Amino acid sequence: MRKKIVAGNWKMNLDRTQGEQLIQDVLAQKAEVSKGAILVFCPPFPHLGYAKSILGAENSIFLGAQNCSDKASGAFTGEVSAPILRSFGVEYVILGHSERRQYFAESDSLLAQKVDQVLANGLQPIFCCGESLEQRNAGDFVNLVSEQLTKGLFHLSAESFAKVVIAYEPIWAIGTGVTASSAQAQEMHAALRKHIAKYYGEAVAQNTSILYGGSCKPDNAAELFACADVDGGLIGGASLKASDFIGIAKSF
Ligand code: PEP
Repeated sequence: MRKKIVAGNWKMNLDRTQGEQLIQDVLAQKAEVSKGAILVFCPPFPHLGYAKSILGAENSIFLGAQNCSDKASGAFTGEVSAPILRSFGVEYVILGHSERRQYFAESDSLLAQKVDQVLANGLQPIFCCGESLEQRNAGDFVNLVSEQLTKGLFHLSAESFAKVVIAYEPIWAIGTGVTASSAQAQEMHAALRKHIAKYYGEAVAQNTSILYGGSCKPDNAAELFACADVDGGLIGGASLKASDFIGIAKSF
């Protein structure tokens, strides 16, 4: 059975005091999270150490990073590798977020190498894909987003692919307050699952968690999560406030 996941992408927000407070506040409300759902905090790198200490042996809340290097170690100033993340208790790594693709020119081939690093170190990629408004209006957006999966992930064996979480994030919905309708989300999620099935078979596709991201809030999460192929959310803005994050996590 595929996992239900609500992952919070803090992006470059919150200082240490604010981060500690947020984690404590979410922990205090964790009883409200829908049964069987797991939470993932994806803070900026420096938060990971203390976050792990606060979470301790928590078994339904995990740590994720927002990026990692395509290299294992060495003279790459400013980079953070998958082995380092693993040593801090990180279990998930967001890869291919549209902000990384756009502002840091991360290509499909670089992302494929990052995926390999993450998996080789026992971590799970949360692999982001999504189209711009211009691409949606041009009409061929389903193929375009499917291609992002092909190029970033389909070099993997079925065994490795089974560890990947997908996040469909239409770029026009990220941080804009404009959410994809449940019909738009379901259309893309179902298409991506079909695309995965074509390559890896139906069983692998049915076990792949596909999250939705893009202005997901407590007041629209239930409708999105009710879609047959939506297995949770990758949450930006609303992950910065405990009541909103929990409000989303109780929406399954
Ligand atoms: C994101 O950046 O991954 C995201 C989904 O942001 P927001 O929820 O703020 O749209």
